[in-house]
Amino acid sequence: MKKALFPGSFDPITNGHVDIIERASEIFDEIVVGVANNTSKNGMFSLAEREALVKASVASQTNVSVVTINGLTAEYAQDHGIQTIIRGLRNAQDFMYEEPIAQMNTVIGDLDTMFLLAKPQNTMLASSMIKEVAQAGGDVTEFVPAPVAKAMQQKLMR
Ligand code: ADP
Repeated sequence: MKKALFPGSFDPITNGHVDIIERASEIFDEIVVGVANNTSKNGMFSLAEREALVKASVASQTNVSVVTINGLTAEYAQDHGIQTIIRGLRNAQDFMYEEPIAQMNTVIGDLDTMFLLAKPQNTMLASSMIKEVAQAGGDVTEFVPAPVAKAMQQKLMR
């Protein structure tokens, strides 16, 4: 059974992430989405909230599971018999960021990274930009799954 891990901050999950998950789930028998406790990023949602929103957004996909990852991604993959990491690429800048991480994961975890290119209509979707648009009062419903749009609205009303 071929399993792959799609790790990320998912703060929050966007339609770009969902597309990568859907496409990867057609290539592998099982996709584990790993919501990382990324301390270097200034988050809008807690780890538990991000996990719940990913779960709600992929609920219809039977071969996708969602977990939280507290330590090293490579360690999680090794501990769970996963040999492939999935990441999405929107542009060359993403590749510049991803390449050393992928190489490091090869060295420390003997892991392969498979990159899927973002769909053209998703290349401008970034969690950070969507948060900025929402915080400025803009409508983000066309960029994120419905449960995320609702959660962002609730968060910003507080
Ligand atoms: P991280 O903090 O680990 O980069 P993100 O949630 O920002 O976590 O991104 C997780 C993965 O999803 C990364 O590989 C990123 O390049 C990819 N990604 C982000 N936005 C999109 C998008 N719109 N289309 C395709 N892939 C994306």
